[in-house]
Amino acid sequence: MKRDRRVKIVATLGPASSAPETLEQLFLAGVDVFRINMSHATHDIARQLVFAVRQLAKQHRHPIGILFDLQGPKLRLGEFAGGRVFVSEGATFTFDQDETPGNNERVMLPHPQIFDSIAVGDTLLLDDGKLRMRVKDAANKKILAEVLVGGALASRKGVSLPDTILPIGPLTDKDRGDLECALDLGADWIALSFVQRAEDVLEVKSIVDGLAAIMVKIEKPSAIEDLDAIISAGDGFMVARGDLGVEMPVERVPGLQKHITRKARTAGKPVIVATQMLESMISSPVPTRAEVSDVATAVFDGADAVMLSAESAVGQHPVTTIDMMNRIACEAETDPDYRAFVHATQIMPQATGADAIAGAAHAIAQTVKLAAIVCYTATGSTALRVARERPGLPVIGLTPVEATARRLSLVWGIQTYLTADPKNLSDMVQKAAQIVFDEGWVKSGEGMVITAGVPIGSPGTTNMLRIAYLDKDGIPDGHAGSVAPSAQVPD
Ligand code: PEP
Repeated sequence: MKRDRRVKIVATLGPASSAPETLEQLFLAGVDVFRINMSHATHDIARQLVFAVRQLAKQHRHPIGILFDLQGPKLRLGEFAGGRVFVSEGATFTFDQDETPGNNERVMLPHPQIFDSIAVGDTLLLDDGKLRMRVKDAANKKILAEVLVGGALASRKGVSLPDTILPIGPLTDKDRGDLECALDLGADWIALSFVQRAEDVLEVKSIVDGLAAIMVKIEKPSAIEDLDAIISAGDGFMVARGDLGVEMPVERVPGLQKHITRKARTAGKPVIVATQMLESMISSPVPTRAEVSDVATAVFDGADAVMLSAESAVGQHPVTTIDMMNRIACEAETDPDYRAFVHATQIMPQATGADAIAGAAHAIAQTVKLAAIVCYTATGSTALRVARERPGLPVIGLTPVEATARRLSLVWGIQTYLTADPKNLSDMVQKAAQIVFDEGWVKSGEGMVITAGVPIGSPGTTNMLRIAYLDKDGIPDGHAGSVAPSAQVPD
């Protein structure tokens, strides 16, 4: 299966998309990674979805990634008598720890840590920022707040505290159970919600212990403040524009999206732009012009992936929406100015052998007009460094590790195939030649540049470049008369 779009598509699964035949239609329309949102999915549903996605990957002999998104420490109000009240602007509203159902003057806030951390002047945002309050006094397990923007307020609505750093870890008890389930099911990526600081990421990393890669959702002001440390701690990042636009003024989101994208690209780690990309397609078969422009902007910024949430999870047109996202992305990538836009972000190499090889492979491919860059990669790190260059030609990852192939399905421009470690340098060239020829990436008479680490199969040793041209039968130069080894693709 040959897919040559550079930006990847992540689709959230839900009732509108979980039937195996719909999953297949979504995959064929362009999905590279499926997201399971643990705010909604039960363990049973997650198990069925993982099984269906793995079956699909086997059937199409194509790696498909699975991203488990943990709910994280989402703060919620207690209950109101009657379920709902109206809070007036200018009134004083009290949050306390009394379990008695609330009224239009007070409600329980069932998170004791907030009472010790919040300070006078801090903002409280309720129900996705629809209501806004400012703390007037906080003492004796009570918070008195002035209502700046009032409105209707229902039981259990979300609470955001953009100015307050809470002494809470990144995982709730529910998240710990969900994480165990995700790792059990072989998740490729774990997304962490409401990360406040780099230590949160390191704490989860030590639990996950390399069994999956960690995607940090950037949605809190404190995460923006600690962004450099978070980027060095995480494996990938999501510009989670939904909550980011609640916790920060919504007009700051576009600038932050570009800032986070540029920082992640500079680090050579994948970044997803998420939320409301084609929101109107939840109910309409065509997007708004502004939504089309939003998707194209993420592509022009060189993001690794664009994501759909409710559009594919509960929308009326999940397959049409993926098809539309695919068409927008492909069109943007063939725009005459695409390369100029993507390379407007200057990415300098680090002083490492891997970056020297990645840069050299790109330069060689451009200079002698090769058809592909082929990377042998055990952990995926060499392929990531090559993708970081955003080269204008296909990047083919070859790996014996299925988990690596699936993780790379999220990464800009990389198409990964499974193959056994080559036995020697000659075998390395032949295996690469056979895959790129059979899969249609390199034609007779065209050339490729291959990167690998010698000794072959030892991770972290990328130290070698080889240029190879294919003859009319797809046999690489210097190998005429030899028997091509059979490629091992997933069965
Ligand atoms: C977001 O807030 O943009 C997001 C992707 O997170 P969730 O869908 O979990 O709210």
